Amino acid sequence: MILLRLPENNVIYRLLANPESNECYGAQLIDSNEQFYTITASHTVLATGGCGSIYEYTSNSSHALGDGVVLAHQVGAVVSDLEFIQFHPTLLYLNDETYGLISEAVRGEGAILVNQNGKPIMDSIHPLKDLAPRHIVAQTIYNNKLIGNDVYLSVANINQFQTRFPSISKLCTEYGIDIESGLIPISPGAHFMIGGVVTNIKGETNINRLYCIGEVANTGLHGANRLASNSLLEGLVMGQELANHLNNQPLIDEEITLSTIEKNQVPELPPLYKLKNSMMENVGIIREFEQLKKQHDWLNLLLNSSNLVEVNIETFNRFVAYKMANLITTAALIRTESLGCHHMVGSNIALKHTHLERGEYVEQI
Ligand SMILES: Cc1cc2nc3c(=O)[nH]c(=O)nc-3n(C[C@H](O)[C@H](O)[C@H](O)COP(=O)(O)OP(=O)(O)OC[C@H]3O[C@@H](n4cnc5c(N)ncnc54)[C@H](O)[C@@H]3O)c2cc1C
Repeated sequence: MILLRLPENNVIYRLLANPESNECYGAQLIDSNEQFYTITASHTVLATGGCGSIYEYTSNSSHALGDGVVLAHQVGAVVSDLEFIQFHPTLLYLNDETYGLISEAVRGEGAILVNQNGKPIMDSIHPLKDLAPRHIVAQTIYNNKLIGNDVYLSVANINQFQTRFPSISKLCTEYGIDIESGLIPISPGAHFMIGGVVTNIKGETNINRLYCIGEVANTGLHGANRLASNSLLEGLVMGQELANHLNNQPLIDEEITLSTIEKNQVPELPPLYKLKNSMMENVGIIREFEQLKKQHDWLNLLLNSSNLVEVNIETFNRFVAYKMANLITTAALIRTESLGCHHMVGSNIALKHTHLERGEYVEQI
């Protein structure tokens, strides 16, 4: 088996697939000098991670735009459960931006969420108060912010906070937060993409020779509301299963072949910050039919525009982000019930309550 890991900063912008044989046979890429090339391969494994960075507030790196889902979907791979975006309740929040994550272990040690007047916000919400499930805490913080409150994590009652949480203390110091004050300003942000490309536990998709692993894969393990820390476990198990599987597969091409190619085009799209803001507002922690519909119409209009630009890394990233946002918004519109971390409010729910099993709606996307 010849294993080719992509060089750093090379971006896959298209998968090569033969619709007749339903097979993937490689990918087209852009290298760090914006040169384009093709790689053919016996087996193609996508491990492109999640999509948190299509939201204004996120714990994810700026690369997490949903590439794998968009690329696989374009060649006919089944995607599902994309409406289930998990929002982490406590990201460090300063000047309308989020930085890094304040672990739930801090609340586990006794920190509580308070508003600007020092009033605890979780007391009347859930029997577990600050240790309520992630989505409940994120929704409560979001609702507080909607009515103009600031929300803080009060760590005043944790003895020797700086010794016990050195990384979080360092992060706070880096951004000028005085830990001695006992208050860390926080906001919820997109954290984990629960859905993705539908795979079995070996990472096999419905396209032969195309595999997905890690956050891009939807194995079903996380249901509609992932439990923290299950993803690394999932990645380890799947990694082993996939390696075992591939080691027993025949090589289709004797060698990996490389060749240069012509560029193609994508729609011209607005800057990413417009998408991020609108996703946070319209397809975020609490969702409502009219807002989803507004976002869906806006995205469709943009993605179907006849104004085209040449593909490069920047235009491709933008295209992926808008396309991923469109897939999530469509999925959120189709699932009119609240389930897991997909939380719907408003009158349309009663009228159009639908329950969809995993993967059931995919044909409609
Ligand atoms: C702050 C934070 C804390 C977390 N803590 C935990 C935890 O405690 N326990 C737990 O189980 N999970 C945790 N998670 C979730 C878990 O870490 C992620 O789900 C997991 O790391 C994802 O791994 P991955 O290999 O699928 O993707 P990633 O590690 O995100 O890697 C994806 C890679 O693909 C590259 N890529 C993307 N698109 C393209 C493209 N088109 N072409 C080429 N390359 C591309 C990216 O640049 C990146 O290098 C945490 C996540 C975050 C953000």
